[in-house]
Amino acid sequence: MTARIIDGKAIAAELRTSLTARLAGLSFRPRLIVVLVGDDPASAVYVRNKDRAAREVGIEPETIRLPADTDQATVLALIARLNGDDSVDGILVQLPLPPQVRPRAVIEAIDPAKDVDGFHPLNTGRLVDGEAGIVPCTPAGIMKLLASTGMALAGARAVVLGRSTIVGRPVAALLLAADATVTIVHSKTRDIAQECRRADLLIAAVGRAELVRGDWIAPGATIIDVGVNRSTNGALVGDVCFPECVQTAGAITPVPGGVGPMTIACLLENTISAAVTRRGLD
Ligand code: NAP
Repeated sequence: MTARIIDGKAIAAELRTSLTARLAGLSFRPRLIVVLVGDDPASAVYVRNKDRAAREVGIEPETIRLPADTDQATVLALIARLNGDDSVDGILVQLPLPPQVRPRAVIEAIDPAKDVDGFHPLNTGRLVDGEAGIVPCTPAGIMKLLASTGMALAGARAVVLGRSTIVGRPVAALLLAADATVTIVHSKTRDIAQECRRADLLIAAVGRAELVRGDWIAPGATIIDVGVNRSTNGALVGDVCFPECVQTAGAITPVPGGVGPMTIACLLENTISAAVTRRGLD
């Protein structure tokens, strides 16, 4: 059996088209502010990609760049100014931050209504409670990829590899809200392979190149690979060994071209939704 490839690039393009149409029906352009502290090269690339994608759908992006030695008080003062600026719809602080700036302090300072990354405790709390709020972009994108497969999540055995606040925990909360039976696996779990073999749905978000092998996969399972890693030969690979797992799985996301494009598209969707909700239009 060879798995069906879940084409995240195409699904993200469809979402961007629908967002462009949604924006065409509005009388304003949402404003997204990205704060970039320091000169991490990967962050600079992410920010450029977000900027380009935002412009394409009709969102007005702006990047505020601060030097790497900026202190926490200065970042917090900027956030306070952006919170109070009524023309700003979304605020995103690009992670990682330099060591002198605590990410938690910065995230908690963002107005939850403008928190388009969905990392503020009020939004994560709502997510855990199964209430409406801003959902983190990668987990939101994963749920859209799953919807595209038509897989029935109610009663499905879902295994989430990784328990980060950015991916593992929020995606587990979303799967639980969709009535899946969820197991979260992490670095202290005994016999990870055996846990994975029980999964109808496996979400891998560990950041370990090709950790998940072909014999960890139940025949016909759906595999979502969130990982972005460099293999020893420099190639971009996921947390799943694609050539092995594609033989056994029922459906699988590639890396690149799976989850990655959905993350940015969902950021754009969050920005539009935040703008509309803040104006009382939804
Ligand atoms: P993270 O914060 O480093 O968390 C990794 C998680 O994996 C932790 O919970 C850790 O367990 C667990 N883990 C690590 N090694 C393990 C092992 N050998 N066996 C079992 N569990 C293990 O990572 P993250 O931010 O969630 O990101 C995960 C991956 O997704 C990275 O490759 C990242 O680049 C990628 N990512 C991609 C996107 C996208 O849009 N495509 C977005 C976000 C992240 P402990 O908690 O026990 O330490």
